[in-house]
Amino acid sequence: MNTPARKIPVLIVGGGPVGLALAAELGWRGIRCELVEQSDGAIATPKMNEVNTRTMEFCRRWGIADAVRNCPFPGDYSLDVVFVTSLCGHELARVRRPPRAQQKAESFSPERLQACSQLWFDPILRAFAQSQPSIALRYRTRLESFEASTDGVTAELHDLETGKRETVRADYLVGCDGAMSAIRETLGIGLGGQGVLGHPVHVFFRTPDLLGQCGKAPGVFFLAIDRNGLWANIRVIDPANGRWRLMTLDSDGRQRPDTVDRAALLQRAVGRHIDVEWQGVSVWTRRSVVADRYSQGRVFLAGDAVHQLSPTGALGMNTGIGDAVDLGWKLAATLDGWGGPGLLASYDAERRPIGLRNVGMAAEFYLAHGEFSGGIAAIEDDSEDGRQLRARLGESLARDVGRMFRTAGLQLGYRYENSPICVDDGTPPVPDDPEQFVASARPGSRAPHAPLADGRSTLDLFGRGFVLLRFGEAPAAALEYAAQTRRVPLIVTDINEPDAAALYGRKLVLVRPDGHVAWRGDALPTEADKLINFVRGKC
Ligand SMILES: Cc1cc2nc3c(=O)[nH]c(=O)nc-3n(C[C@H](O)[C@H](O)[C@H](O)COP(=O)(O)OP(=O)(O)OC[C@H]3O[C@@H](n4cnc5c(N)ncnc54)[C@H](O)[C@@H]3O)c2cc1C
Repeated sequence: MNTPARKIPVLIVGGGPVGLALAAELGWRGIRCELVEQSDGAIATPKMNEVNTRTMEFCRRWGIADAVRNCPFPGDYSLDVVFVTSLCGHELARVRRPPRAQQKAESFSPERLQACSQLWFDPILRAFAQSQPSIALRYRTRLESFEASTDGVTAELHDLETGKRETVRADYLVGCDGAMSAIRETLGIGLGGQGVLGHPVHVFFRTPDLLGQCGKAPGVFFLAIDRNGLWANIRVIDPANGRWRLMTLDSDGRQRPDTVDRAALLQRAVGRHIDVEWQGVSVWTRRSVVADRYSQGRVFLAGDAVHQLSPTGALGMNTGIGDAVDLGWKLAATLDGWGGPGLLASYDAERRPIGLRNVGMAAEFYLAHGEFSGGIAAIEDDSEDGRQLRARLGESLARDVGRMFRTAGLQLGYRYENSPICVDDGTPPVPDDPEQFVASARPGSRAPHAPLADGRSTLDLFGRGFVLLRFGEAPAAALEYAAQTRRVPLIVTDINEPDAAALYGRKLVLVRPDGHVAWRGDALPTEADKLINFVRGKC
């Protein structure tokens, strides 16, 4: 007799940062889930280096923001972005970004963007997910196939250590299986957009005091522009151990790691020979695409599986973690029995437009690099003409290419327009400016940060369930009752802070478990039960 398949509420495929973030979010909510990852989790060639402000806010909720802040990237290391003819050549412009330890608090968030390589970030997420009793992480385990029906998903897992195969039955399957997602392929979900933008080459190396060897002031990211145009960047990954990454913007598309002439690339980027310890080479494809759908029935997709974007702007993983947080509370609410049938369906409606927005901006940032190629033959000349050209170019580079480092609006200003579970209040949207973040409590927006008298942020009030913020006198019992009778977790929190009241703009503001505003008004609607049903996806 066949043993019945083991049952799992949520099966996550892929243990990259997005799968780990989803496991973290579900674990934090006490939802049982299993994550399978075909590799052993070791990161040979790290990609991601910048954890943006919104992701740091999620880390703050999970209680791991300090661990990310205290990662081995030194807090007193300059985050300057520098345009150079080569690392040892002329400096054209410097975008000043002070070390974290010297940064002033921002008015819009209790957190700041953090330099933290995937080398450290993934293990922090992994340790947090592993510490949750409801989460099982299985490395060296591959999803081989799956079949979804209206009442669940049957999946075949392959333990690559023992060779054992097992069939499991999950209520929901989430593919966080990266750009080449076999789950997306199996579902026949296509990708649309500009497609392939290039084939960059990564060269990882180690050398002590690289900037000292070149007589350059500290900085984190150096963009190299020579007479042929802007062609590469050199980024410090681990300053304490002299670990760097050289990345070409493109290549001829025929390179393989073993054919890349790493010494020639390094010589051109640095401007002279230096001794290094080589640490790895990879060639990857820069794409600009978004999936046609983020889900099908009981199968959901998140992260690079549904959006692949140029790393210009550091939005890839950060967008994927936004997916994980949006999907996480909806899965939890559905499994806990209070989420309505429309709740999980709202995942695609809310997150796909954000994928399109971020993929589009990242491509725009990348394409700006190409505008600096013609008429710059004198760029390296030690002449007056050369000096003047560098000064002119430096200004334009810092303004146009430097935009990708001024993204507060992109990081925090995304909002769920036309969401089927947010109640439009008829007010016009604030501008969605990539650089300038404009805080707003209009439904669909991230509920704004405001400091509270006890030292906390309003953001610290959100997470577990719905929170009805009350600024002044306004009856709220009808909504509490409507929520209680439907087992929707909701608490009412009074705030007596005029600045916060002004920012939120209404006496009552209903904030969802993911920290986005679901509804606001100066008084409850007459049918509070309809409001609760709407925001839980049960219209
Ligand atoms: C040069 C570069 C720099 C970048 N810098 C940044 C940055 O600063 N900030 C940022 O936000 N983003 C950045 N990104 C983007 C970021 O690295 C990706 O968006 C992110 O890694 C995607 O995470 P993911 O979990 O969706 O996918 P992945 O990291 O690709 O993980 C997918 C995982 O799924 C596993 N898998 C696949 N199929 C199966 C299967 N059948 N069974 C089991 N496991 C499976 C794979 O082994 C893999 O580990 C950068 C990217 C590049 C290339």
